[in-house]
Amino acid sequence: MKNKKSEKKKENIKDGLRAPKGMHDILPSEWPWYEKIYSVVNELADFYNFSRIETPILERAELFERGVGTDTDIVGKEMYFVKGRNGDKLVLRPEMTAPVARAYIEHHLGRSASLQKFFYKGSAFRHERPQLGRFRQFNQAGFEVIGGSNDPIYDAEVILIFQRLLEKLKIKNIVLKVNSIGCKVCRPIYKKQLLSYYKDKKLCPDCQKRIKINPLRLLDCKNENCVKLKASAPNFLDKLCAACTSHLKGVFEYLDELKIPYMVDNALVRGLDYYSRTVFEFFTEGAGADVGALPAGGRYDYLIEMLGGRMTPAVGGAAGIERLIAVMKAQDVEQPRRSAKKVFVMHVGEMAKKKSLNILEKLRSAGISATEALGRDSLKSQMRLADREGVKLALIFGQKEIFENSIIVRDLETHLQESVPMDTIVEEVKKRLARKNK
Ligand SMILES: [Zn+2]
Ligand SMILES: [Zn+2]
Repeated sequence: MKNKKSEKKKENIKDGLRAPKGMHDILPSEWPWYEKIYSVVNELADFYNFSRIETPILERAELFERGVGTDTDIVGKEMYFVKGRNGDKLVLRPEMTAPVARAYIEHHLGRSASLQKFFYKGSAFRHERPQLGRFRQFNQAGFEVIGGSNDPIYDAEVILIFQRLLEKLKIKNIVLKVNSIGCKVCRPIYKKQLLSYYKDKKLCPDCQKRIKINPLRLLDCKNENCVKLKASAPNFLDKLCAACTSHLKGVFEYLDELKIPYMVDNALVRGLDYYSRTVFEFFTEGAGADVGALPAGGRYDYLIEMLGGRMTPAVGGAAGIERLIAVMKAQDVEQPRRSAKKVFVMHVGEMAKKKSLNILEKLRSAGISATEALGRDSLKSQMRLADREGVKLALIFGQKEIFENSIIVRDLETHLQESVPMDTIVEEVKKRLARKNK
C-alpha cells in the first residue's frame, strides 16, 4: 500500500530541466487541434493548386537581415543565433517567406513556370515575450504566389484562402483589415510627409526610435497620445501613386466579387521591410480577440530582387497555428477528435492473449482499425476501455473459442453478440461495420 501512495505523489521535473521559456510540448491531447488545422490547410492547398515546399529550419542570418531588414523587431531583437562549426552565422528561421523566396531563386523555380504557388507548414522561432497563443517556437502554415504578374487577383486569392481556412475551422466574428503601403515610387514621398508632420510632435519613447528607423510604424503605435496624433497624420491612401491606387482598387473589386467583407485600415503597416502595396491581417472580435492578428501577409514584389533574383512579383501570407487554436478554444469550437477505432479485440486467458496478436494483424491488414488492451487481463476492464474509446464492435476470444476455432462478435451499442467461425472474421466485421455506417 505504501508503495502505491508514493507512486501517486505528484512528480516534479528537476530544476533546470524544464522546457526553455516560451517553448512548449505539443502533448497528445493537443494534437487533434493541430491535425484538424493541417488537414484543412492540405485540403485548401489541393483545391487552390498550391504545391508543398519545405525549407530548412536553419538559414544564414544574412537571408533575414537582407530580406526582412535589420531594423525590424524580428531580425533586430528576436532571432536565435546558432554558430556553425565553420564560423557560419546561422539562425533558427524567424519566418518562412524569405526562405521560400531564397529556395525559389536558388533552384531556378521560375524557369519551369512563370507562376508558382507554394504552401508550407513548419516551426519558426522568435525570442519574444510569451503570451496567449504566442510561443518562442511556433508553427505556421503559409501560402505564397510567386511570379507571373502583379495582378491583384492573386492578392485576393491569398486572402480568400485564409478566409476559407478561418471559416472551415469555425472561427467566428472574423474581421479582415486591408491596406496598401505603396511602392518604391510613392512610399518615400509619403514617408517624407509623415516625417514633416511628426517633426515637432511629442512622441512616446518607442516612437522616438521608430521615427528614425521606419516612420510608417508610427501609425501602428498603441500609446494613447500617439493614437491621437495619428488621427490628423497624412493618410497614405490619399498619397498612393496612380499605379498603387489602381492596384488596391483591383484588390477591393475582387474581394467585393467574392463577397469577402473587409475594412480599410490605414494604420496597418506590417513590420517587415519586404512588403509592398497590399498588406492584410485577419482578427476576431469578442472571444479570442486578445490573441491578436490571425492569418496575415501581403505583397512583396521586391523581395526576390533584394535577395539577388530578378524582379518578381509575389504575394502571400501565413497563419500561426497556436494562435488559431487559442481562438478556437476561446470561441468554444468543439474539440476535434481522433477517429475512434472500429474494433476492440478482447482476450480471456494467456493462450487467447497470444493468439489475439494474429487476429489483430489480420484485421489491420484488411484495413480495419483495431485496438486492444493486451496488458489487461480482466474482461471487465477491457470492456470499460472499449466503451470509453467509443469502439463499435468487440471481438471476444477465450479458451472455448480457441477449441472451436471461432470468435464472439459483440455489438457494443446493441449489446447483441454471436459466435462466428474464425475464418470468416474479416467478412463478418466488415458486414457489421457497413450496416452501422448506413
Ligand atoms: Zn506606388
Ligand atoms: Zn508611440
